[in-house]
Amino acid sequence: MKYLFLALAILAFSSVVSADRLVRLYDVSPGSVTDMIEDGYDVANVDMRRGYVDIMLPERQIDQAALLSYDYEILPREWGELLPENSKGAGYYYDPEENWEFWCSLADNYSDLSDTPVTIGQSYEGRDIYMIRMTSPTMGYKPPIYFSSLVHAREPGGNSVLIDFAMWLTSNYDGGDTRAAYILDNTTVYFVPIGNPDGYAYNMPNGGMHRKNMNYTLGDGVDLNRNWGYMWGYDDTGSSPNPNDPTYRGTSAFSEPETQVQRDFILDIEPIAAMNYHSSGKWLIYPYGYDYNTYTPDQSTFVGWSAVMTADNGYTSGTCPECLYPVNGDQNDWMYGGNGEQAIMVFTPEVGTSFWGGQNDSSVIVDNCADCRPMNIFICMTAPGFVGISGESEVGIEPILVLNSICPNPVISSASFTITSSGSSNADVTIYDTVGRIVDSFETGSVTGGTSSLIWAIPDEMPAGVYTARISDAAGNCDSRRFTVMR
Ligand SMILES: [Zn+2]
Repeated sequence: MKYLFLALAILAFSSVVSADRLVRLYDVSPGSVTDMIEDGYDVANVDMRRGYVDIMLPERQIDQAALLSYDYEILPREWGELLPENSKGAGYYYDPEENWEFWCSLADNYSDLSDTPVTIGQSYEGRDIYMIRMTSPTMGYKPPIYFSSLVHAREPGGNSVLIDFAMWLTSNYDGGDTRAAYILDNTTVYFVPIGNPDGYAYNMPNGGMHRKNMNYTLGDGVDLNRNWGYMWGYDDTGSSPNPNDPTYRGTSAFSEPETQVQRDFILDIEPIAAMNYHSSGKWLIYPYGYDYNTYTPDQSTFVGWSAVMTADNGYTSGTCPECLYPVNGDQNDWMYGGNGEQAIMVFTPEVGTSFWGGQNDSSVIVDNCADCRPMNIFICMTAPGFVGISGESEVGIEPILVLNSICPNPVISSASFTITSSGSSNADVTIYDTVGRIVDSFETGSVTGGTSSLIWAIPDEMPAGVYTARISDAAGNCDSRRFTVMR
């Protein structure tokens, strides 16, 4: 007992003098976890299936992580704040006040990357709906990517995914993961973290099950994800005319202030892609939702992107009728097919396995964020290329040596380089990282007089990030192409 008191005293003292950080250790055996606990380490989370252990370390003792595993990662500061002693309000989820504090603190800490929250309109009960704009100081047209959550008031899982992604973007911009710098240098990321502030406030403090907004004029609220103006009220299966039904669509399309606010903001910023987060069920849903047999003209792209996005997280993808049930008047269908401008490449991830599953278990939130962050990265890096924003058109004289494509891009383990040469017989391919260091090189072999492909396997030690492949021959012809490595 004496030792327990001593340990508690040390813990209490250390939390005053130095903030603890959550550190993720990889390649740790179950036996050594037992040893760590016996040695007094604060083991916060063990996930042997995914192959990691999280421990809390005082900031000034962070070097000890290297003694425990050669492969470790210091997690964002806020993840540690999700631990039990820091929970309040909505449990480990961020309640309305914690959301506001978080988004304001990002603007304080990363003023060159994140703007302060800006109100874009009011809810039925007069609460502010706000957005956060995030981009780096680089100039030029930077296509907008849209992220939203908490349109359904009992689905905070998506909100924590937005918070995680915002933290990752800002904390990795300068010297961390080069994909974060690429995203903020080439796109403008918008977050609308609480689409239904009245319903979310109503569900406080302990996490209620109210889904719709708080317009009780006819029933118990309107389903804000059935109130959008494309195929609104198409049938009574995909939405309900009954004011007391969970999927009540309202008296007309855009009858509700919350949907009007998001609609006007989307029309204002014209995003090229979007992730509208809901929960639950581990689905990745794309349009159309209103009909079983109607697919968008971009169906093959939705299928292809979804395959990459769900390759590692076990999510199942498809249209809403394929995954769950038909929906009409939802946000995705309007954003893709009904906004009157361009078709937005829009997805709805259905996060996790329950609405409030992480409320008393922070590891659920951490896992959900780990599942979804790669999808967010993928959409931000892939969508600009899809609409041809970042590609430079080749005009003028016919080039002699061309690196036509690197496929797939992003690259997971190996890529096919397609090269056209009208003159040379052999060329060198050199891979550079974003600061110009050579990370790999190889020769093409004979490619004279036509198009050929060769397979390149990514070296094991090459980290995820943005790279440039440059092809050149002895005659001075050259070409280059940018690609992404995902891990
Ligand atoms: Zn939902």
